[in-house]
Amino acid sequence: MKTLLTQLTVGSLLIVDDSAVQRAHAVALCRELGMRMIYEASSGAEALELLSLLVLPPDLLIVDLEMPRMDGVQLIEKLHERGMRIPMIVASGRETALIQSVETMARNLGLPVLAGLQKPLCSATMLGALMRLDQQPGTLRESIDVDTASALGRQALASAIEAGEIGVHYQPKVDMRTGIVRGVEALARWQHATEGAVRPDHFVALAEREGLIHDLTLAVMDKALAQASAWNAHGLRLSVAVNLSPRLLDQPSLVDEITRLAAAHGLHPEQVMLEITESSVVDCMGAALGVLARLRLKGFGLSIDDYGTGFSSMRQLARIPFTELKIDRSFIHGAHQRTNLRVILQSALDMSRQLGLVSVAEGIETMEDWRLLQECGCNIGQGYLIARPMPAEEMPRWLKRHQGAIVELRAEAPQPLV
Ligand code: C2E
Ligand code: CA
Ligand code: CA
Repeated sequence: MKTLLTQLTVGSLLIVDDSAVQRAHAVALCRELGMRMIYEASSGAEALELLSLLVLPPDLLIVDLEMPRMDGVQLIEKLHERGMRIPMIVASGRETALIQSVETMARNLGLPVLAGLQKPLCSATMLGALMRLDQQPGTLRESIDVDTASALGRQALASAIEAGEIGVHYQPKVDMRTGIVRGVEALARWQHATEGAVRPDHFVALAEREGLIHDLTLAVMDKALAQASAWNAHGLRLSVAVNLSPRLLDQPSLVDEITRLAAAHGLHPEQVMLEITESSVVDCMGAALGVLARLRLKGFGLSIDDYGTGFSSMRQLARIPFTELKIDRSFIHGAHQRTNLRVILQSALDMSRQLGLVSVAEGIETMEDWRLLQECGCNIGQGYLIARPMPAEEMPRWLKRHQGAIVELRAEAPQPLV
């Protein structure tokens, strides 16, 4: 099983460590896990030279932190400068807080970090890290997808939008105290006839580059609002969240278009949430601020998406009339094991309360993370633990199953005083 896993995902690997003993240990471990093509470098300089010589970059890097001359942090910065986005594991014998801060730094640079591991490495933690290979955005594997989206090109996407072929999946947003479903997030899907499923972040980026984002967004919104209206008719009142690209915020006509669409589907704007990424609102000025203010005036909910990745200040956020704060999943997954993440989470939740916002945690994958967020007082949860995004037809069946699971999710009632 181990061998199968790593052969499927890791064809080649580079271990960077100044200690020959540590390298030998890592090589033996990786061989045991089924990896065959293993390169070694005893310094950052040697690693960079090797990488410049390889025609295909390795699938994985293991980077030691403490090395003479160029240390692990400097090597990571150099990889970033050279645009080398190779999935990596940061390894060190030093304390976990230090390893975690380097891990966070590398992630903030946009590098795909699978894990920060304490040495000596062992097969259980290595396997755990390798499981995350498939979730890494923009790694080698996924750059093939980027090419698919780009190769399919503007025309293919334009035709798919025009023909109504962009589908929408829905992921439930659940009340963390009671487990009751409050709403759904609408996520665009493109199933290409010959190429199969194209990744949403890739075709959304293509749409942004090629001037199709307006049509794509309105197509998704039209389907999502029609669906919410159909659910309303069946007595299921769910708020529906749609992602808004920052590129749209400089189009003043957007406010009327969205308002008209909601009215056409007989929905009250209060039932519609618009998610805008934190990074795009940091410099939000002038026209964009006006668009957001007018959307809020009409009654639409405004959510700060991917909170924690955009480095905004409380002052910047306070001047935009948001109603919801959605904490990015990189702070959620594994938070129960990581004290540093807990501190960030708690301060995000405190800020959310101070600004009077509803807090949402996205990317909850385990019961441990669910319980932690519940204890921290997060209002709404979303993630694979509850449900993956699904077509609307699957919602009724999922809702039935969810009724059975709800007891488990509920916050434990306070013990009666004796
Ligand atoms: P997002 O807005 O942050 O959406 C959440 C993404 O996280 C979704 O990926 C969802 O499938 C994924 N996710 C949910 N729960 C979990 C979990 O527990 N673990 C993990 N690892 N992932 C989880 P998806 O559907 O691939 O969408 C990716 C991104 O593409 C979205 O990120 C959003 O930025 C963009 N996108 C999708 N649809 C639209 C759209 O209609 N318009 C715009 N502008 N962007 C869209
Ligand atoms: Ca979102
Ligand atoms: Ca998000």
